[in-house]
Order: sequence, then structure tokens, then C-alpha cells
Amino acid sequence: MKFSEIIGNRTVAEAMVSMADSGRVAHAVLLYENEGCGALPLALAYLQYLNCSNPSGGDSCGQCPSCRQMEKLIHPDVHFVFPVNKGPKTSDDKPTSESYVKYWRELALADPYFTEADLQKAIGIESKNGLIAVAEARSIITKLSLAPVYDGYKAVVFYLPEKMNQETANRLLKMVEEPPQKTLFLFITHAPEKVLQTIFSRCQSIRVMPLTKEEQRMVMERRPVVEDEDGTMFMELFSGLMNAIAAKDLMTALECGESMAALDSREKQKAFCNFAASCIRKIFMLQQNLQQIADVGEDEYGFYADMADKCPKGFCMKAIANIEKVVSMIDRNVSSKILFCDLVNRMFMNI
Ligand SMILES: [Zn+2]
Repeated sequence: MKFSEIIGNRTVAEAMVSMADSGRVAHAVLLYENEGCGALPLALAYLQYLNCSNPSGGDSCGQCPSCRQMEKLIHPDVHFVFPVNKGPKTSDDKPTSESYVKYWRELALADPYFTEADLQKAIGIESKNGLIAVAEARSIITKLSLAPVYDGYKAVVFYLPEKMNQETANRLLKMVEEPPQKTLFLFITHAPEKVLQTIFSRCQSIRVMPLTKEEQRMVMERRPVVEDEDGTMFMELFSGLMNAIAAKDLMTALECGESMAALDSREKQKAFCNFAASCIRKIFMLQQNLQQIADVGEDEYGFYADMADKCPKGFCMKAIANIEKVVSMIDRNVSSKILFCDLVNRMFMNI
């Protein structure tokens, strides 16, 4: 990937170029992004630039052997680590990223702006939590102890180091502290506060900025067209819930809560919560007469206008806070039935 293909985040791209040009390349960099803002494309463009044999104008050439292998994500000196678990797409009993690298490549080539949920789906572990386990550390240490194929940098891109346990971090720490010559670690996190401090403190942190509305639209256009089954189903679920609570029909509202709890993975439950929060923000915007930034489509205007009318002032802010609380609890092994039932109750009480 070339820097010229990156959507938004010019300042970060320029900082990376000048870091590479200065020759003072930090050996451990942590890119902190809100999901989907392009940290992985930036990391890929940076490594491609660093290893390009003919860079010019602040970008890689895209033509040299190193660039061509980077473009296909098959550069022999660049490795990828991401959270995995056992699943139907590998027979490995203790899978590592290597077990799934084929699917990682397919996904990242089709859409480098993919989300964590997209990755879980691509490697077939939708219903499980992905982890970076100690087997991964062993595999990385072995790979980095081999001589590089090219004369450039060897690198490991860690996608979501917050999913690394203490044992894995301990194994890797010495290497992150004192890496072999011309070896880089790039960490991409969505939750820097959850990255183990021992790793975090060794990194130069870079904030990948949220995308503007226009940039988000460009990312969406770039994404491969997939039937958005989840979006349609989420909207049905959300509108069902809102119509029920607006009609003071607690039984139907609780049934909607049960359907939310029955979504087949934690990631999907969180995705639904984020979807619902974004819908409630639209209602809030309409209540504030901010139609121009509410981003409500013509075909859905009737529903949102109706809800803006029926929901009392204060409802939206309370509902969003309650939903965000559910998102934070989903990862803590709390029963999802209890969580969603409680959420529906609270929304019902506030309307
Ligand atoms: Zn090149």
C-alpha cells in the first residue's frame, strides 16, 4: 500500500515519512485508532516506504520487488500477529496467526479498513474471543532470529496487542526492549489503556485521527460490496424496540431484549449496541433541530422524526449512556440476557 492510497490522516502519514527519512526510526511504534480509521493501511504504507528500494516524493515506488511483495502482503520479512482462537478453519490445536494468515491476507487485501468483527468472521471464530497467546511469542521470536531475506527492515505488525496476555508479553518484552538490528514492532490498538504497560511504555505512540464524514464515506466506497445483512437485521431489531417502548408495550420490548441477547457472538452484540447508539444520536439530533448533521436518509426520516417526537428530552443521553455501559460489560462475562433485559427496562423507564 502506498501513502497516496491512504484516506485522511495526512499529518500522521507525513510524520511517518519524516521519521523514515530522518533515519531515526523508532523500533516500537503504537498506533492508536478508533476502529476503522486506517491504522493498518498506515502501518502497511510505512513499512512499504521503509523497505522500498526506489522511494520518491515521500512515497514508495510500488514497483520494486519489495513493494510488489508488500502490495500482496507476502513480504518475507514482514509478519502479522492478530488475535486468534481454535476454529473450523484450522486443524491446529494451538493456533497462531500463521494458522490463519491466508484469511488475514484475503481480508486485508480486499479491505484494509476492516474491523475486528470482520476479522473474526474471516477466520471463522465469530462466537469466540480472539487471543494473542504465548505460542505466538515463540513463533515471532523464531521468525525474527532468522536472517532477513532483503536488506531492509524486518517487522512485526501486532493487530490488537490488548488481546495479548501477560505470559505472551513477558516472552516478547526482551525483544521489544532490545530488538535485533533493523527490526521493528508496530502495534495497532483500539484500547491503549488495555495494552500491557510493559509493552506500552516501550513504544512511541501515534494517534491516528478519527475520519471526517467525507473520509468515512470514501472508506465505505472503498469497501467491497457485501450484502449488509446485519445492518438490516439491526435496524429491524432497533425499530422494533423503540416502537414497543414508545407504545409502552413492555412485553414486546423485553422480547426485543431477548433477541439482542441471542445475537450469536459478543462482537455482534457490541456491534448492535454501537448501531443502536448511533441511531439514538440521530433521534437526538432531530430533537435539537440539527437535521443537516443528523445523517438521516429520506427513506428512514419518518421513523426518526416520529421517535424524536415521542422520546422525552433527556431520553437519548440516558439511553446512550446505558448502551455504552452494556458494551463495556459484554466483555466481562456477564450474562447477556441480564444485560439486555436491564437495558430494555431502563430505556422503558426513561421514556
Ligand atoms: Zn519500491
